[in-house]
Amino acid sequence: MRMILVGPPGAGKGTQAARLVQNFRIPHISSGDMLRAAVKEGTELGQEADRYMKAGKLVPDAVVIGMILDRITKPDAANGFMLDGFPRTVPQAEALDAALKKAGFDLDAIVLIEVADDLIKERVTGRRSDAAGNIYHIKNNPAPAGVSVVQRKDDTEEACTERLVKYHGETEPILPFYEKKGILKRVNGVGSLDEVSARIRKALGTH
Ligand code: ADP
Ligand code: ADP
Repeated sequence: MRMILVGPPGAGKGTQAARLVQNFRIPHISSGDMLRAAVKEGTELGQEADRYMKAGKLVPDAVVIGMILDRITKPDAANGFMLDGFPRTVPQAEALDAALKKAGFDLDAIVLIEVADDLIKERVTGRRSDAAGNIYHIKNNPAPAGVSVVQRKDDTEEACTERLVKYHGETEPILPFYEKKGILKRVNGVGSLDEVSARIRKALGTH
């Protein structure tokens, strides 16, 4: 299974990816997680990415495309992958398409997790994560007692507003390309975590 999860910031992509990859036995490849790891390590790529991420801007295509195309050629992705947060622009979608064509692979599905803008801010500003990368929410999905959590630098109201602008302006335009291919699945992202997982499985025909 080669698939993409897409949606606005805070839609639940990371949360759902972590649940779904357990069934599919494919790696969860999150461009945001990879970039945050590079920032933490202080690599050249990380230093460049940090400036954009803090402000809620998109990291330049050339940086992200190289990083992801390199990642999907690793042995653990030979039988499939779940991309989360990539592609996020039309040039990224084109680069992925060209790379897959060249390798002789097809994308099976792209799942769009839909959540209206007015619900997004609460999800993003209430998001917390622990050292293992588990995702929580201060109200909707609190961390168990004793687990210490942190807030992402870009989960402020200001950066969230900018990220929503980027989502509508730069990411939504990739959708018609996949819709034409007949592989775009729209899923309602409002409901319990289990409800949303069930909708995604149903959309993928794997329930
Ligand atoms: P969310 O799912 O909340 O939108 P991510 O963790 O996917 O957040 O991304 C966090 C930030 O990392 C983005 O705001 C952007 O700065 C950068 N980023 C992640 N993926 C990409 C990408 N494919 N292209 C450009 N920038 C990206
Ligand atoms: P994304 O990767 O799309 O940015 P996350 O999976 O990190 O989104 O989820 C964003 C926040 O919303 C987290 O705090 C998460 O716990 C919470 N969340 C995820 N799914 C739901 C849901 N179905 N209902 C309510 N809150 C949710």
